[in-house]
Amino acid sequence: MKKPYSECRFPWENVQIMADGVVKPCCWIDGAGVGNLNLNSFEEVWNGGKMQVLREYIERGEVHQMCKRRPCPYNTEPHFDL
Ligand code: SF4
Repeated sequence: MKKPYSECRFPWENVQIMADGVVKPCCWIDGAGVGNLNLNSFEEVWNGGKMQVLREYIERGEVHQMCKRRPCPYNTEPHFDL
């Protein structure tokens, strides 16, 4: 069952680092994620603009583009890639 988007806490509590350095807060986030450790430090990515904007969207309950088209448990919008 889907949960309200604003209840997602992945960008505050979780991180995934891909083999190519891409940083994502979860496995459902869109391609480029919120940064790359080959270009910036972990602290710069974790506290960086992309992560901050994503957190702001979630707090407002407004689905960010990075979270769309993914079958995440918090996105109640229609999924176009299924
Ligand atoms: S894709 Fe889903 S789980 Fe990942 S950050 Fe967005 S709302 Fe949270």
